[in-house]
Amino acid sequence: ARKQLIVVTPTYNRALQAFYLNRLGQVLRLVPPPLLWIVVEMNVASTETADILRGMGIMYRHLVCTKNLTNIKDRGVHQRNRALEHIEYHKLDGIVYFADDDNVYSLQLFETMREISRFGTWPVAMLAQSKNKATLEGPVCNGSQVIGWHTNEKSKRLRRFHVDMSGFAFNSTILWDPKRWKKPSLALIRQLDTVKEGFQETTFIEQLVEDESQMEATPLGCSRIMNWHLHLEARELGYPNGWLLPKNLDAL
Ligand code: UDP
Repeated sequence: ARKQLIVVTPTYNRALQAFYLNRLGQVLRLVPPPLLWIVVEMNVASTETADILRGMGIMYRHLVCTKNLTNIKDRGVHQRNRALEHIEYHKLDGIVYFADDDNVYSLQLFETMREISRFGTWPVAMLAQSKNKATLEGPVCNGSQVIGWHTNEKSKRLRRFHVDMSGFAFNSTILWDPKRWKKPSLALIRQLDTVKEGFQETTFIEQLVEDESQMEATPLGCSRIMNWHLHLEARELGYPNGWLLPKNLDAL
């Protein structure tokens, strides 16, 4: 049987949200099932998100996280934790992947993820409006082994593992099957919001694996970019509520 993929996406209402969720949902729809899309919002399940999910034609869960935000730069941390709790509580079995709504993913990425047995990682391309070239970040590999890391960001060099949030996936049983794997510290995972920006990925991964020997270079040799991390936010853009036009454009 094909391995289930559990794709976790934090999202929030803003001008480009419908564009992002449609784009991501349409890729996920092309991935052969079984695939579960766990979409998590803060405070309330918005009707905009609910409408898009309902129309997408894939298996999904629309979760809400109701924690008071202490850190304004949260960027989805609580929402990912909410999804992890859900996966742990319901003992969902599959490969977990954190797919932010605004990034771009190839179909091949999802096919490749199904090969992961414990923890897989691969290089990611970062594209920012302010820079005129892509920076690459992720594992240096020898065959299926991870032997080192590459990053261009000097500020982040102190990290143990140089992986982007969208550059790894892992077996969900790590979260709830202590017989199979050494149990990770879920308490620590829950406190990820207290971790300094830029260190969330490495702190999380340090709970899942002890070192590189427990990682799988995905695909073999990490020779291909399979997803792109974009920084193209347009937060201040105005747009019609829900992208609905109650009046004809002529009347606006
Ligand atoms: N996000 C969210 N609420 C926020 C900020 C971000 O749900 O207040 C989500 C966002 O939709 C995306 C993920 O968290 O899926 C990462 O956000 P963003 O791309 O802004 O962070 P970056 O990757 O640029 O650090």
